[in-house]
Amino acid sequence: MKKNYIGIFCIALLFCYSCNSQTTPSKDVKESTFVNNYEGEKLEKTAKEWREILDEKSFYVIREKGTERPFTGDLLDEKRTGTFHCKACNLALFPSDTKFKSGTGWPSFYEPINDKNIATETDYLIGYPRTEVMCGRCEGHLGHVFEDGPKPTGLRYCINSVSLTFEPLGNEP
Ligand SMILES: [Zn+2]
Repeated sequence: MKKNYIGIFCIALLFCYSCNSQTTPSKDVKESTFVNNYEGEKLEKTAKEWREILDEKSFYVIREKGTERPFTGDLLDEKRTGTFHCKACNLALFPSDTKFKSGTGWPSFYEPINDKNIATETDYLIGYPRTEVMCGRCEGHLGHVFEDGPKPTGLRYCINSVSLTFEPLGNEP
């Protein structure tokens, strides 16, 4: 029964489409765009080598593009002054003064320490553009960036806590 409905729906859709084919622009099928302007030497390792360095949760998020459960990350409420680094290769990624409380359950930043330290890939798989954020050096998955962040950038880098380490400033005597 369900199949019949789907069939009728498809035929109706085709009919509408053919009626309007001259006025309706064809839907753009956009390709993903990958950008990485990191200028240093890239770090490449096999999955086996990454497994030896990363704990299970970090491997899942960083190397398999997973997402940690919201409100579970150790760095969500980190409020000290310092720098957030890539957990896989230790590249500095976000200064603590760009961290803000987004209420999403993931550490959120409005600006990276240097745009060149961040790689991005925008895809259209879910019908609208979505931009993944990766470490520029090891291309490990960090999270996503959205355009609903605070001033001055208006960006919200929504980053998995398990993709990051934190180095507090001022450990010297
Ligand atoms: Zn990295």
